[in-house]
Amino acid sequence: MPSRDGNVIRLIQGPHTEAVQAIEDETIDAAVGGLDAEFTKASQETVTLWVQLFGSPRANAGDDRLLTRVLAAIREAIDRLFKGLGFRARTALERALKPAAALGVSQGAQVLTLLTGRPAPRRSPHLPWALRRVANSLPGLAEEQRRSALSLLKPALVRRLGLTGALAAIGRARGVVGRLKATLSQTVNEAVNEGIAEQIRQAGARKVWISERDACTACLAYAGLVVDENADFPGGLNWDPGQRGRTDPIATPPRHPHCRCRIAAWDDDWAVPGIPSMPEVLQREARRSVARGWSLPSESNAARIRAARELIRTGPRLPKSVVEFASDAVRAGRFENRTFPATGPGAG
Ligand SMILES: [Zn+2]
Repeated sequence: MPSRDGNVIRLIQGPHTEAVQAIEDETIDAAVGGLDAEFTKASQETVTLWVQLFGSPRANAGDDRLLTRVLAAIREAIDRLFKGLGFRARTALERALKPAAALGVSQGAQVLTLLTGRPAPRRSPHLPWALRRVANSLPGLAEEQRRSALSLLKPALVRRLGLTGALAAIGRARGVVGRLKATLSQTVNEAVNEGIAEQIRQAGARKVWISERDACTACLAYAGLVVDENADFPGGLNWDPGQRGRTDPIATPPRHPHCRCRIAAWDDDWAVPGIPSMPEVLQREARRSVARGWSLPSESNAARIRAARELIRTGPRLPKSVVEFASDAVRAGRFENRTFPATGPGAG
């Protein structure tokens, strides 16, 4: 039978996080939906044109007139794909900010109600100017990327590098998709957290850091940490000693691109005697995640092994079987399977 605090954590890591993801997805789709495929098409068309004019993908650029034609075609394609992009991204983010902050308020209120047993008054979401400024900066970001891409379209450069040089401009232009996605996702998360913070302030509570079960070794080091609402979480924490001390103190997640960590209200008065409190459950789950190596493929196995070794060294406070599992992995130098089991006995 899961405890009250365990249920709140599941609610935040599950449905609450999915609701945020839905706003992120919608925003990203409105801003850059289909753009990646368009860049692929532009690359393919460039290859086709190169072969048509010069004979093969490996062939050198022929005379100046033909090379000029290739460069003009690439420039046209890039300009076409950037047309209206900055404006679309800005509009998409502007539209998302209020719903995102409102979502944070309602999620924050729901958590407060579950933890205190009392209905929580909902403040209308407050949006910091900094977030609106991010939206306003997106056209500039897109324009900067476009110019940087076009600057690669120099005849001498492309003549020296061949088709690879011609494609480099499209590759650099395409970088705008990743940059916009990262900024949109980060800013939507910040808006949600702003709404949650508003609820925490309202309740006069402190804030606790909530990580996903397969979060990185840095975020797992923050799981269950409680600080005052207006204070920062300390910088530089990491289960992997090799990555410690490289970051500044931070007011709220996201801690890095693609970070799905959240904050929630916490007050020690809400703890139920004899039952692990929300911060304790989170810290224990984080230790278990380190011991099991649960993580995304984007993280290195070596980092997870260093983290597991550190956990064992500092006292894992976990069941013997879990500690043995971690020790075996450290001895073997790798975790065989790092996927967090969504259901079943391993999920506990
Ligand atoms: Zn995180």
